[in-house]
Amino acid sequence: MAKQYDAIVIGGGHNGLVNAAYLARAGKKVVVLERRHVLGGAAVTEEIIPGFKFSVFSYVVSLLRPEIIRDLDLPRHGLEILPLDGTFTPKPDGDYLWRVNDHAKTRRELERHSKLDAEAYEEFGKSMVAMCRFVKPLLGMIPPDPTSFNPRDLKKLAFLGKRFQSLPPDDMYNLVQLMTMSAADFLDQWFETDVLKATMSASGIIGTFLGIRSPGTAYVLLHHYMGEIDGAFRSWGFSRGGTGGISNAIGSAAREAGAEIRMEAPVARILVKNGEARGVVLEGGEEILAPIVSSSVDPKLTFLKFIESRELPSDFLDEVKQYKFRGSSGKVNLALDALPDFTCLPGPGRHIRGAISISPSTEYMERAYDQAKYGEYSHRPYIDIVIPTLTDPSVAPPGKHVMSCFVQYAPYKLASGTWDEQREAFGDTVINTISEYAPNLKKIIIGRQVVTPLDIERTTGLSEGNIFQGALSLEQLFFLRPVAGWARYRTPIKNLFMSGSATHPGGGIMGAPGRLAALEILKQKSKGGFRV
Ligand SMILES: Cc1cc2nc3c(=O)[nH]c(=O)nc-3n(C[C@H](O)[C@H](O)[C@H](O)COP(=O)(O)OP(=O)(O)OC[C@H]3O[C@@H](n4cnc5c(N)ncnc54)[C@H](O)[C@@H]3O)c2cc1C
Repeated sequence: MAKQYDAIVIGGGHNGLVNAAYLARAGKKVVVLERRHVLGGAAVTEEIIPGFKFSVFSYVVSLLRPEIIRDLDLPRHGLEILPLDGTFTPKPDGDYLWRVNDHAKTRRELERHSKLDAEAYEEFGKSMVAMCRFVKPLLGMIPPDPTSFNPRDLKKLAFLGKRFQSLPPDDMYNLVQLMTMSAADFLDQWFETDVLKATMSASGIIGTFLGIRSPGTAYVLLHHYMGEIDGAFRSWGFSRGGTGGISNAIGSAAREAGAEIRMEAPVARILVKNGEARGVVLEGGEEILAPIVSSSVDPKLTFLKFIESRELPSDFLDEVKQYKFRGSSGKVNLALDALPDFTCLPGPGRHIRGAISISPSTEYMERAYDQAKYGEYSHRPYIDIVIPTLTDPSVAPPGKHVMSCFVQYAPYKLASGTWDEQREAFGDTVINTISEYAPNLKKIIIGRQVVTPLDIERTTGLSEGNIFQGALSLEQLFFLRPVAGWARYRTPIKNLFMSGSATHPGGGIMGAPGRLAALEILKQKSKGGFRV
């Protein structure tokens, strides 16, 4: 006999787990079905090389919503975020830019490059905080439908309009610019130091198939600025034990609330009868039934793989088919015998405890994108490096290190050859690029894991390896995510909900989609639709 639950959550990524935790806390009998043997999706820790624990995909956290940390009491379940101190950008001419979380030190460092930029940096920081304060309530809001006359939607739209009107004029202009401009153009208005602009603009292209000069990237800059740890804007940190620690803490909170989590339980199909979701069928043929199905995987898997096309309206299907993934990122995870030594600032100082950014100039960044546009991985890529062992030694044997290198651009669709053929050459390119700044690197590598966009797709299910379950471009955000008219976590199939990063407010280890979807599902109950 098929097992019966109140709700089935497809996918044990961090959003699926948040979703299940909130439903279970509301007293629902919930099961999470995860395809892999390890929880967390793109937020996992795995011991790929004996003794070395890699945050295989995502590696730093900042966007995780404080209300989720509080509601689920995640520190009690093992969540511990350790601060990541600053960003160090080595330059090929032997100089560097090193910004830290200490305001006065960063100011002195910027003055070394440009007195004007040191002044502007403070103003810029204040302005971005004002923008974040404006946008932040949207992260906790179920998007309104602008085409609706429903009082609930009109109230939200009026709230947004009123907030916009109450902004000081400069903030208003800044906000419009952020929504429309490229990261590079936006930063050009503020700064003159090229390496500063190059490094800052990197936040605008992470996870996108766009260059720093492509319109729309200024918004992604803001998205990454928005993180919050203990209430401090813009601080990024490591999760002790790797990013899997975050997923495990959420999983533990979900289990404590009564959720069941089944590993190695791949969903093959969503059962639909008379336009209503009734449960799922696993790849092995087992049926599991529930009056609510919440899919935390992306729209391509949910609607094009798990459901027969005849169950869905054709215009909706057309929109899903047009939803843009366009994965552009890869990762190289290294096990090291010692620390890399950077020529421009030698020794194992504090500068390598934070992020190390290979983004020496704006031209370098834009050229990296040029190759990707024509189906090649960047031969001189942008790389965001962290060495978590300097903050959390528990992830490697004593005296050894783990180094995580996030790389762009690695286009999912290659013009020639396959990623299986080009994987190791891509890894070599990344290592060669870093070696130009830290020549001892090749000698200290004990082992490596090269992750291509195809590997991201194969392992996590993220279509085309897009790290955010779909591009964070403006036409796919807020009331347009994943598609216009279906941004409220609901779908054309009754009682089938979406709860992953493909829904508002998008990707990153944030948990917001999972929580907001749970709140929407629980509303269903009060209308009598949630039959328990
Ligand atoms: C290389 C990389 C680097 C990143 N770096 C960062 C970073 O440093 N900081 C940050 O905040 N964000 C980062 N991100 C983005 C962030 O990790 C993701 O946006 C987020 O983890 C997505 O979470 P999710 O729960 O929505 O989806 P996912 O993590 O994709 O979870 C979906 C889950 O569904 C499972 N699944 C798939 N198919 C099935 C099936 N048929 N049946 C059952 N289960 C299934 C998958 O195994 C997976 O566990 C990165 C992502 C990648 C890939």
